Amino acid sequence: MIDLSEALELIEAHALTLAPRRIQLCDAFGLTLASPVIADVDSPSWDRAMMDGFAVCNDDFIRSELASPEAVSLEVIADVAAGDPSSITIRSGTCARIMTGAPLPTGADSVVPIECARGTSRSAHTGSTVTLTDKHFHSGQHVAIRGTFFGSGKEVMSIGMQLGAAEIGLATEAGATHVTIHPRARVSICSTGSELVEPSEIPAFGQTRNSNGPMISAAVQTCFAEPIPLGIAIDHPEAIRATVAQGLAADVLILSGGVSAGDYDLVPNILSLCGVTNVFHKVRLKPGKPVWFGVLDRDNGPRTLVFGLPGNPGSSLVCFELFVRPALAKLHGHSSERWHMPRVQARLTGAVKLGGDRPVFSPCRLSRSINNSELWTASPMPWGGSSDLIGFCGANGFLVVPVGVGMLPAGSEITVAVRDQPMRL
Ligand code: AMP
Ligand code: MG
Repeated sequence: MIDLSEALELIEAHALTLAPRRIQLCDAFGLTLASPVIADVDSPSWDRAMMDGFAVCNDDFIRSELASPEAVSLEVIADVAAGDPSSITIRSGTCARIMTGAPLPTGADSVVPIECARGTSRSAHTGSTVTLTDKHFHSGQHVAIRGTFFGSGKEVMSIGMQLGAAEIGLATEAGATHVTIHPRARVSICSTGSELVEPSEIPAFGQTRNSNGPMISAAVQTCFAEPIPLGIAIDHPEAIRATVAQGLAADVLILSGGVSAGDYDLVPNILSLCGVTNVFHKVRLKPGKPVWFGVLDRDNGPRTLVFGLPGNPGSSLVCFELFVRPALAKLHGHSSERWHMPRVQARLTGAVKLGGDRPVFSPCRLSRSINNSELWTASPMPWGGSSDLIGFCGANGFLVVPVGVGMLPAGSEITVAVRDQPMRL
């Protein structure tokens, strides 16, 4: 049995970042750039009106401000909508009615908002006169000058950036229909256990629904990896061998169940028969002690990481968060500070039992302390142990309960591992 820190180091050492690949931007959500995104246009690509109003020459306003700060009357010589490639030139004494997003006509410097048009002249179009009053006028107002945000040929996103919604928007604006990323890891998921039945079935006496399969699939998706569900394998060597053989085609194979010390815990033996080298088995941890990790290396081929998670659903979930998530983060090319669950210090709202000879990861609700803005507040969830998933539902953190005997009283400071899920604090 090894310590958690050693287990994590071993996983880091064996998980290799997946080789970059060029894919369509629309398939890259959640992935990390392996090459920068270079803009093929300026943004904006021309001087752009940022308000609905009138495109004017600065001189008319600056001069008239001196003479009469009240109002400027200008002849409207064009109407320019977004997308209009207008060829008109604005000279002193004239203006163009202009819409947000339209190119500023030659000669114009600023936009005076439509709200600044007096009375009925607000509806002035080409051929009529508008009277404008803009107390706050300053030259260049409400215009985004060509290239303000980025220039053609410039790097708008660098290596290592993860593609969320804003990043996909910016890449699109910059002309990147394809991006070079670290590809989505393919993750096979197999649940072992002769007692398991499909989720759609009513379990008979002694049977259990395969809840780990869908749970691990969902957890894999939160890492932006691709789950490949392989269903249930009964506790029979041939059944497990067949599913392992299939699962080893992926970048990662996750098995649940069958890694403890029972007569039917066949997984470790079968994995080694299939050529998987064990890296560690058993970690000083509660829940999740029997966790198994190994690798399959092929000549000139890709490496497959293999995780044998203990079957109890709570153990499977904790082991996924502690061991599988960092491995996927490394495969996906995240920088090292993003591999592990973030840790924060929090104040306990209720007493918890110390962990005995192993640190315990138990579910909690993390929120901002009302009395002390520097510390978080951690409320332990009622939890029945490794087979109980209720306590994990709605939990946004794991208390890292230290080893020892006795109780950690309410009000104590404790470390909390934050679950990398949408946090409802
Ligand atoms: P094992 O790790 O195979 O000894 O299983 C420990 C406990 O977890 C047993 O009570 C199993 O029935 C339960 N278990 C194993 N696999 C699953 C699964 N896929 N879904 C739900 N419970 C499971
Ligand atoms: Mg079992």
